[in-house]
Amino acid sequence: MAAGEQCIFVITGPSGVGKGTLIRALRQRIPKLALSVSATTRAPREGERDGVDYHFLSEAEFERRVQEGEFLEHVHYAGASYGTLRSELQQSIAKGRPIVLEIEVQGARLVRAALPEATLIFIAPPSLEELRRRLQARGTDSSEKVAQRLTLAEQELRAQSEFAHVVENDTLERALAELEAIVRASCSLLQGA
Ligand code: 5GP
Repeated sequence: MAAGEQCIFVITGPSGVGKGTLIRALRQRIPKLALSVSATTRAPREGERDGVDYHFLSEAEFERRVQEGEFLEHVHYAGASYGTLRSELQQSIAKGRPIVLEIEVQGARLVRAALPEATLIFIAPPSLEELRRRLQARGTDSSEKVAQRLTLAEQELRAQSEFAHVVENDTLERALAELEAIVRASCSLLQGA
């Protein structure tokens, strides 16, 4: 299969903007869409499962995989390492399935450089204030972590013009419809799916 036929989608944007929720809803509408399970060194949150939400790795194991060249991209973000394993993409290629990566902005830039054929989509919050509200409401991070993520978010929001598509996550239904339209229009593997 030619590389261009694989259909790789990168969903990026600040932490707390709703990337995960949008992707879950998108995959219900398009079951053929595979999800790249990232590796991370951060501790699992309550309810998160190893191999499903993330591959949870020790610092040493993460570093070993970096050295082995197993990552398509990897970054340090908010005190932990995160990375996309090449094997996740290879599995979806083998099955002829399009794949979606949920990653932060720095990693999205690295994927764009490595795989220019990938479709990059930036999810933007209606405002920084709304993002703060969502991060606090999620209740999974300490107030210190929320503050750290908001500082990062301000920088990340400035990057949105770099991306081919920007979807504002104002309401889930509207943002989902826009996202689905972009994904379907960008991928021949999804015609009729
Ligand atoms: P969280 O700790 O909230 O699960 O994730 C923090 C940030 O890391 C989120 O913006 C998430 O999208 C991003 N992220 C998750 N996996 C990866 C990855 O494999 N690579 C990169 N660059 N970012 C990731």
